[in-house]
Amino acid sequence: MCGIVGVVGEENVADLLYSSLQRLEYRGYDSAGICTGVAGNLECRRAVGKLKELHDVLSASPLAGNIGIGHTRWATHGAVTLENAHPIIGGSVAVVHNGIIENHKALRGKLEEKGYHFTSDTDTEVLVHLFTESIRVSSSFLEATALVLEQIEGAYAFSVLAKDYPDEIAFARQASPLAVGLGDGSHYVGSDAMAMAGMTRRIIFLKDGDYGVINRDSVVLRDSAGDLAKRDEVLVSS
Ligand code: GLU
Repeated sequence: MCGIVGVVGEENVADLLYSSLQRLEYRGYDSAGICTGVAGNLECRRAVGKLKELHDVLSASPLAGNIGIGHTRWATHGAVTLENAHPIIGGSVAVVHNGIIENHKALRGKLEEKGYHFTSDTDTEVLVHLFTESIRVSSSFLEATALVLEQIEGAYAFSVLAKDYPDEIAFARQASPLAVGLGDGSHYVGSDAMAMAGMTRRIIFLKDGDYGVINRDSVVLRDSAGDLAKRDEVLVSS
């Protein structure tokens, strides 16, 4: 078990993401990373080992940006290396993912045939290229997410940044925990309420098959059928 966090807000998010990863440490991990959207680009910092290593990387090379995703990895596919640490980035998409994409081998084969180049040994990287492809043929980040979900099998929770949608974070869950946090001028995703402690107490716990998109001002949630998902907001204790 490991952790995911995502923040879109009005201020610089790197410190918020890092402290969230600290709160997720209890879940166990072997590497960690953060990626933010900065001036139309995606910038990632990753490190193998304890969060202190990531802290050193961030101190030497700080990240700006008011939108970002973070991850603590517990390797299932691919060794514990920097190349396999999340966020996995490819072209104009960055993904953090918990769990396993069961049909990753078949998907990887198809994507390689189409010319996509893989830089990691993870199952996660198929998501990066599937999003790249789906964004090309979709009219929204939400629609692209639905297209990706049609193609993958397994147990997963993930969050995605894409250059084409610089103000949005896409996410989905299936048999792996993920929640959305509601703020004032900011929204969050996280593996659990702890991930968002200190940022918000207003949490929507997602159900299997849920997916959606957050930006600074809104949350769009769909269920596995693609219908609007009506989920209760819970006020968690601080
Ligand atoms: N299967 C992915 C990997 O090995 C995600 C592992 C995790 O849940 O952290 O990179």
